[in-house]
Amino acid sequence: MTLTGQQILGNSFSNQGKQTFTGINPATNDKLETTFYEATQAEVDQAVQLAAKAFLAYRKTSAEQKATFLERIADEIMALGDLLIKQCMAETALPEARLTGERGRTTTQLKLFASVLREGSWLDARIDTALPERQPLPRPDIRQMHIPLGVAGIFGASNFPFAFSVAGGDTASALAAGCTVVVKGHPAHPGTSEMVGRAIQKAAQATGMPEGVFSMLHGTSHEVGMAIVTHPLVKAVGFTGSYRGGKALFDAAARREEPIPVYAEMGSTNPVFILPEALKERSATIADGLSKSVTLGVGQFCTNPGLVVSLQSEATKNFITKTGEYLRAIAPATMLTPVMSQSFNKGIAHLKSVAGVEVVAEVEGKPANNAAGAVLLQSTGKALQQNPQLAEEVFGPSTVYITCDTKEEILETARNLKGHLTATLHATPKDLEEYKELIDILENKVGRLLINGYPTGVEVGYAMVHGGPYPATTDSRSTSVGTAAIKRFARPVCYQDFPAVLLPDALKNENPLHIWRMVNGAWSKEPIL
Ligand code: NAP
Repeated sequence: MTLTGQQILGNSFSNQGKQTFTGINPATNDKLETTFYEATQAEVDQAVQLAAKAFLAYRKTSAEQKATFLERIADEIMALGDLLIKQCMAETALPEARLTGERGRTTTQLKLFASVLREGSWLDARIDTALPERQPLPRPDIRQMHIPLGVAGIFGASNFPFAFSVAGGDTASALAAGCTVVVKGHPAHPGTSEMVGRAIQKAAQATGMPEGVFSMLHGTSHEVGMAIVTHPLVKAVGFTGSYRGGKALFDAAARREEPIPVYAEMGSTNPVFILPEALKERSATIADGLSKSVTLGVGQFCTNPGLVVSLQSEATKNFITKTGEYLRAIAPATMLTPVMSQSFNKGIAHLKSVAGVEVVAEVEGKPANNAAGAVLLQSTGKALQQNPQLAEEVFGPSTVYITCDTKEEILETARNLKGHLTATLHATPKDLEEYKELIDILENKVGRLLINGYPTGVEVGYAMVHGGPYPATTDSRSTSVGTAAIKRFARPVCYQDFPAVLLPDALKNENPLHIWRMVNGAWSKEPIL
């Protein structure tokens, strides 16, 4: 496939822009071949107008038609073969095995949403049948289900070039809900974005979807993203990236004449609490697992454990030393972009400048090009209280180890945490008994609690929550991973006293879709007689 560098506007391509950019190989700092065109405001408008028109037809397609479309996207992505992986390796410096795995996760995700559509209970159909004899007033016939919001603006993330990008979880869940989608590809992997975008375009044509169900725009300036978020015909936004970016888009959406939901996942430091008995029993195993989790993917995961908390003791001291040794033994690796590597270095320099912070382990010398080596810093619960920025995300392979003098100081450290995606406890049954209150505190701080595991590695399934209270996300009621992500792009609507012929299939008495529905307060698949 020869890359065009153009915007994908429904079935067409467009290059009206005068501004251009190229991808960069972060391992060499070399510019890559293709020239990409920055989308103009007119192109953004065209993409959204097409999507708004397509929405009228797409929302009426059956669950089966949408499911077939999603599965075809997965097939078209696989049909790109090694070329896609090679392109992505050149743009991200991520290793082949990681990218092959991530591509698999992406296609599985698309197929999972296809199965969710066929199963149908995501519609949350509810029926309260009429009670004409009820006193003092009769009850009308009331039926509820979820319908799609409209055009969704989706931002590709830099750190998951497949699974959170053009055909990633946000796009898959929005299309599954029945929304049409305008993606802003992340400028760190524009060629990968174009290839995947064209696979979606091909799948849409092959499965007879309305033109404009999907468009994709390139841009290195904030204008393209802002134009999507502020376009009056856009009805929802999905985003994964920095706090600054997510908050700016959220604020812009809230300032619109018609505010819209922005589901921004902005990352966190995913605190890990290593409790005393577990530390005594499994010190070496935990040190090994923690070091691997901190450095996985050069630390460029939103679930990276950036804060570790333990009670001060001799065992903790030895544990920190051991973790430092493990981390020092892990070779530096290239980060996703030059900017990301600069931000990492800046972030570490800042943490080191905070009073009471000591360096436990750090790679000596400056790693080549945009590579980063693991960094382990150490401080205390009291220093953290005075400098809450120690608990803020530094995107990359680093973690800050906090030692507390007392159990109460550990609990206070937890109470002072802001919202995070995850929190982890390494604990024995005795620890869990002793630190019951810690779980109570953490439940209110995060979207996912783990015991004796590591936060990196997010399963895509029915029960996953990848979200959490602000500032981890802008909407703690939702998840951006797993099948429940579909709910972000739909809203409930209620039909009162509707004639049977006008009711959507999901709400008809006969239950022609054979889906689970709540009928007069009880779940059932039976027709209503
Ligand atoms: P980013 O700066 O947040 O950018 C993500 C996307 O949002 C890009 O398409 C970007 O467009 C757009 N954007 C950002 N700020 C915007 C604004 N004010 N107005 C309009 N659009 C805006 O994230 P990134 O480029 O991936 O990496 C930067 C930093 O984000 C990293 O160093 C890391 O700290 C953090 N990050 C966190 C996660 C996570 O999972 N939590 C993931 C990736 C990155 P432009 O390219 O035009 O700016």
